[in-house]
Amino acid sequence: MIYAKKTFGQNFLKDRVALEKIIVAGKINPGEHVLEIGPGRGALTKFLLGVGAVVHAVEIDPDMIQVLQDTFPEAIAGGTLIIHQADILETDVSEFGLVAGEYKVIANIPYYITGLILRKFLESETQPSLMVLLVQKEVAERIVDGQEGGKKKKDSRKQPKENILSLSVKVYADVRYVTTVGAKSFSPAPKVDSAVIELSNISKDKLHGVGVTDGEFFTTMKHGFSQKRKTLMNNLKQHGHDAVQIGSALDVVGLDHRVRAEVLTLEQWLVFIKNLK
Ligand code: SAM
Repeated sequence: MIYAKKTFGQNFLKDRVALEKIIVAGKINPGEHVLEIGPGRGALTKFLLGVGAVVHAVEIDPDMIQVLQDTFPEAIAGGTLIIHQADILETDVSEFGLVAGEYKVIANIPYYITGLILRKFLESETQPSLMVLLVQKEVAERIVDGQEGGKKKKDSRKQPKENILSLSVKVYADVRYVTTVGAKSFSPAPKVDSAVIELSNISKDKLHGVGVTDGEFFTTMKHGFSQKRKTLMNNLKQHGHDAVQIGSALDVVGLDHRVRAEVLTLEQWLVFIKNLK
């Protein structure tokens, strides 16, 4: 018997309904290439193979590799399941023959590296066309609603619209909250609930369409959010931007000079940054 390892974020999905919802969101055509991060014992792998995907599975734990080899000998022999023992963060997926826009990432990911996985694939030159991920519910809400997880206030007008995480994802993809998956759907059960999110239409078009580079976007946004209680103007001034220039860029967007970073929508950020240059 192989026990789940906390260090690798191992919580195995055992809920058939949740697995089916992930597969439906994945809209997989037979023969389509899917990258699965952390297949574990293969619960999701089995469903992916069932709808005809060619699965490239990247798993860090050698014990799980053994389980996968014992569970799917035919798929491995037939070339529909290709197993790689590796750390996904150290992996260059183009070496698997995966091509930008021509594969999907579908996975119940290890939660301790959620942010790094999102960055790796969204900022990559080898972007997938679609990502369907099981993540912590609070993280899913922060990405999709832009809200600070769980702290829904009565007055929605006072809600921060976006945060660094939500903007970092939305600048590359359309996001959708697919479904909540309760903690009891996993073995062992994690402390918190999870959720499936779908990131579609992944591209760099939004950035490049307005002539803003990835670097300009991330640096300006991080500077803008650097001190929560301060205005966008003061945060940017502290990072060396000129007050007159900031003011005129805010005027172009039609924003008050005292706004905080959290109230800007993605579209407003893009226009603002373009005019700050
Ligand atoms: N997909 C399986 C399921 O749904 O039951 C397992 C999901 S479990 C939440 C996360 C899996 O990712 C584990 O099998 C773990 O060993 C693997 N893992 C953890 N860190 C990893 C990394 N850096 N690279 C690749 N796999 C990793």
